[in-house]
Amino acid sequence: METTYYNSLIKNNRNWVKRKIDEDPDYFTKLAHGQKPPVLWIGCADSRVPANEITGTQSGEIFVHRNIANMVVHTDMNMLSVLDYAVNVLEVKHVIVCGHYGCGGVKAAMTTKEFGLIDNWIRHIKDVYRTHKAELDAISDLQAREDRFIELNVIEQVRDLSQTSILRNAWKNGGGPGIHGWVYSIENGLIKELDVSIIDN
Ligand SMILES: [Zn+2]
Repeated sequence: METTYYNSLIKNNRNWVKRKIDEDPDYFTKLAHGQKPPVLWIGCADSRVPANEITGTQSGEIFVHRNIANMVVHTDMNMLSVLDYAVNVLEVKHVIVCGHYGCGGVKAAMTTKEFGLIDNWIRHIKDVYRTHKAELDAISDLQAREDRFIELNVIEQVRDLSQTSILRNAWKNGGGPGIHGWVYSIENGLIKELDVSIIDN
């Protein structure tokens, strides 16, 4: 078993604690008092899309939910619980669905290959393709088609999010966060804002 890499994680943690305390002796005491993050992040589980790092934010700023291909599935109790807590208890100001180009989950949904258990999850992404089949099939360049599918997947997840009882009730009561759709480029680090924001609260 590879233990050197594993051990380095703990060592890095100790170094990080020391750096944080050097910068601000009260850093951990302040965080321990509670959280009031302004943002809920619904992102892909991909290791190359770390919410805090790519947005230049710190511990305490982003409440995070991640799954394969940043999906908002209405029967997903995990996602719904995170959303409910973020909206009704933490009262976040923004919910961001962030996809990324080159997403393995979306790529898998473009094939007929079988991957096992995960096929049940990918089914939801395939539904997005079916909804936008005419537009996607008309794009002959396969890379361009994949990129557009990734964007449309985020747009669909933002729409599904806006239809949840959690957000509809929050908006009806005059509060609730704005919601946004982003696609992150692993190749250049830039975030693209999709024209799908709903900020009618
Ligand atoms: Zn992904």
